[in-house]
Amino acid sequence: MPGLLEKLRILGEAAKYDLCASTASPRAHTPGSIGRAVATGVCHSFLPDGRCISLLKVLMTNKCIHDCAYCINSSKNKKQFKQKYTSFEPEELAKLTIAFYLRNYIEGLFLSSGVEKSAECQAEIIHEALRILRFKYKFDGYIHAKILPSIDLDKLKRIAELADRVSINVELPNKSRFSEICSTKDYNNDIIKVTKWLPDLKRKGFLPAGYTTQYVIGAAEETDKEILESVFNFYSDSWDFKRQYYSTCLPLDEKQKTFPREFFKREHRLYQIDWLRRIYKYTPKELMTVVNEKGYIPLREDPKVVLARRDQENFPIDVNSANYNKLMRIPGIGSLSARRIVSLQRKGVQISKAEQLKSIGVVLKRALPFLIFGGNKQLTLDQFKSENRGSL
Ligand code: SF4
Repeated sequence: MPGLLEKLRILGEAAKYDLCASTASPRAHTPGSIGRAVATGVCHSFLPDGRCISLLKVLMTNKCIHDCAYCINSSKNKKQFKQKYTSFEPEELAKLTIAFYLRNYIEGLFLSSGVEKSAECQAEIIHEALRILRFKYKFDGYIHAKILPSIDLDKLKRIAELADRVSINVELPNKSRFSEICSTKDYNNDIIKVTKWLPDLKRKGFLPAGYTTQYVIGAAEETDKEILESVFNFYSDSWDFKRQYYSTCLPLDEKQKTFPREFFKREHRLYQIDWLRRIYKYTPKELMTVVNEKGYIPLREDPKVVLARRDQENFPIDVNSANYNKLMRIPGIGSLSARRIVSLQRKGVQISKAEQLKSIGVVLKRALPFLIFGGNKQLTLDQFKSENRGSL
C-alpha cells in the first residue's frame, strides 16, 4: 500500500492528461536542469477576473473500468503498461489540499478521476472529498472537478454545489469516432446527456466559473473539420461553453517520451482557431474555410494569416481609420494593441511610422503586409514569408 507521498506522485503523474489550461509542451527535462515543462502535480488556471492561480492537479484514483485506447489508466492497457494503481481516501485528499494551501503552494484544486467501480460510486467519493474540504476544513478556494461520464443529475448537482467549475471530457467529436477508441462508454448516453444538464445548472446559479470540455487529438481517425464542427456547436448559445481544450494523444510507450516540436502543431492550430472564434470573433463559417479538402487545418500557416491573405476585398487596412473589429483582423495585432491604436485615433494621433506600431505591441513582421499608414501599403504579400509560427 503506497504512502501518502507515493500516492501523490502516482496520482499527480496520472492527471497530466487532463487540461485546465494549455499546458502541452514538447520540451524534455534533462537531469540536473531546473524546471520541468511537462511537470505534474500543479497546474495553472485563469479565474474570471483574469488572475492566474496554481492548482493541485490530481486524480482521485487511477484505477479504471473503462477501456479508452489512448489512456494509460484504461483496463485495456493494464497488461501492456505495468504501472502502480492507487486511490486517495476522501479525507486524505482534503487534508493534502488544505496542507498545501496553508503552505501557500497552491490556491485551489483540480480533481479528476478514473472510475474504479462505477460512475455513481466514484462520484460519491469525489463529492465526499469536496464536502470535507468545504465544510470540515472550511476551504473557500477554487475547485475544478471533472465530471464522470454517465453520472445521474442528482450527483452532478451535488458536486456542482461544491465546485466552482466542472468539466466533462467529450474526447472525440462525435459518436462514431468515440466508438473507435472506447467500447465501455456510449457517447450520447454517457457524455452528451450529462453535458446537456450543465447550461441549466449554470442558469440556476451553480458553477460560477462555468464548465469546459476537452478533446484528445489524434486518438482516432477524426479530422479537424469534425472537431471544429463539435467545438463551434459547444460555443453556441444553447451550450455556452467557457473553454474547450485540446490535448495531443501522447504515445503511452515510456520509450517515446521526447517528442519533436511538430508533434504538437495540430493541437496548436486548433487552439489558434479557438482563439479566433472566442477572442477575435470570426464566425464558424469563416473559420471553416481554413480547413483543406481532406478536412485538416494546414499546419504550415497561421490561420489568421490565411484568412487575411484571402480577404482581398478588405485588406490592406488603414490603421489610422479602421475600427477595433477591423484592427483585430490584422495578423500581428491582438486586443491590447487594437485598443491602443483606437485610443491613439481618438486623441487624433496619426500613425506614420512602423516604430509607432512596434512600441504599442504590434508584431510588425506579421502585420506589415496587411497595413496601410502614412498613405502607403507597407509590404507586398510577395515580400512576406508565409512561414508564420508566432502568436496571433
Ligand atoms: S474513463 Fe478516463 S481514466 Fe478511465 S480509461 Fe477512459 S480516459 Fe482513462
